[in-house]
Amino acid sequence: MEHTPGTDRPPTRASRREWLKTVGGLGAGSALGLHASQPLAQAATPSKAHIVIVGSGLGGIAVANRLRKQLDGARITLIDKKEIHNYQPGYTLVATGVWPVGKVIDHNADFQPSGAEWIKDMVAAFEPANNTVVTAGGQRVNYDVLVVATGTHQDWARIEGMDVGAIGTNGLASVYPSSDAAVATWAAMDAFRQKGGKAVMTLPATPLKCAGAPLKMTFMLRDRLAQAGTLGKSEVHFHSALGNVFGVKPINDNVLERWKNLGIQVHTNEALAALDIGKRIATFASPEGERTEVPYDFIHVVPPMRAPDAVKHSDLAWREGPMAAGGWLEVDPKTLQHKRFPNVFGIGDINGTPRGKTAATVKKSAPIVAQHVVDFLAGRALGQVFDGYTSCPLIIREGSAMLIEFDYAGKLTPSLPMIEPLQESFFAWLMKVRMLKPAYLAVLKGRV
Ligand SMILES: Cc1cc2nc3c(=O)[nH]c(=O)nc-3n(C[C@H](O)[C@H](O)[C@H](O)COP(=O)(O)OP(=O)(O)OC[C@H]3O[C@@H](n4cnc5c(N)ncnc54)[C@H](O)[C@@H]3O)c2cc1C
Repeated sequence: MEHTPGTDRPPTRASRREWLKTVGGLGAGSALGLHASQPLAQAATPSKAHIVIVGSGLGGIAVANRLRKQLDGARITLIDKKEIHNYQPGYTLVATGVWPVGKVIDHNADFQPSGAEWIKDMVAAFEPANNTVVTAGGQRVNYDVLVVATGTHQDWARIEGMDVGAIGTNGLASVYPSSDAAVATWAAMDAFRQKGGKAVMTLPATPLKCAGAPLKMTFMLRDRLAQAGTLGKSEVHFHSALGNVFGVKPINDNVLERWKNLGIQVHTNEALAALDIGKRIATFASPEGERTEVPYDFIHVVPPMRAPDAVKHSDLAWREGPMAAGGWLEVDPKTLQHKRFPNVFGIGDINGTPRGKTAATVKKSAPIVAQHVVDFLAGRALGQVFDGYTSCPLIIREGSAMLIEFDYAGKLTPSLPMIEPLQESFFAWLMKVRMLKPAYLAVLKGRV
């Protein structure tokens, strides 16, 4: 594919050298979260404990690898049916025609720590009062410490008429469900950009993993139309179920200003309620329940998200407050220890914390969770505090991105002197397409 960087010029040789020194000095893994992590310098703590980790995605495997090094003699069991490991941050690149799909497909077996047991099944029920989980196949597994790492459930059932299997046909797209859906999304986008027309992009009201992805898809769709010469015949509409398009105000304001200049039309408080895929009509509902039909040529659908059923319907879920409806894991946001069951910890997207459903969040919090498991087993106070660090490079167009980094409070937390917050750059693009996958793998292997 032809490379067409945006207005930001590639770095000069001198500035590139300076930048690589800065990033290189942090180590490959830090490029993902851009902060140095807890080193694994301490001697392993002897333990005979049985640690069960439910979910073998990024968070589950990262914590398993760290515990394998930090504990001597502990038994570690991972439970998850999924054998393929997907590099999900690469989905937006696959879905917009930048990467081939092979770059986002690996195998969990290649990353899990040696000596760990792997039960290839899903957990159907959590019984924290009995220190037990029950698999779909009926196996009861007891634990001393449980780490919940199940990620999110994509609640497609809340969009009447939606059919994930139809993504790629009739102008229907979604980057979220799988690597196959990302490929099909690019097929739909590529077909759409040849002729142009009306594009509708959606955003639900629930917490999302990588809440930047719907924005990236919108920026890239507009860029693909411009590259194909069909922008003049097109309209791009973004329908948000919320009053904004991103939960952190300075980032929201920045994106809205850019979209105003790019001619992207924003509609707020409109939740996608139904789809007629064959007729290409989307129905949006206002908070008051008023329904509006919107015809389209291309639609990018973002599913509402919640905790998987097994967590949502268990004693581990929040019972009250803003996280209760989604059934997210009730952890202390600072320690990531369960608030009612002290031998339970959460890592990654399942956590019912104010923000933080990105791989960068896992990079910064996996060392804290692993250390807290060790502290808990040793009878020590949990000494570390997670600030909610979240980040992702927001793609602005092919060849340009803007690195956004923030904490629980929504405060911007820029970590690289060479990258200005809220400014797009070729550097941030380079980081997205070249550096973040190696950094992700380093997190997965528990090396950073
Ligand atoms: C389109 C997209 C773009 C993204 N872009 C970025 C980005 O640019 N930067 C960034 O930092 N992050 C990004 N992310 C987010 C990042 O991929 C996630 O935050 C990260 O993968 C979270 O890790 P996790 O372990 O919590 O969940 P996952 O990696 O999703 O793993 C969860 C695992 O739990 C398993 N599981 C679920 N239920 C059960 C059960 N009942 N029993 C057993 N196992 C179960 C699943 O099978 C799965 O393997 C993106 C994600 C998507 C989808």
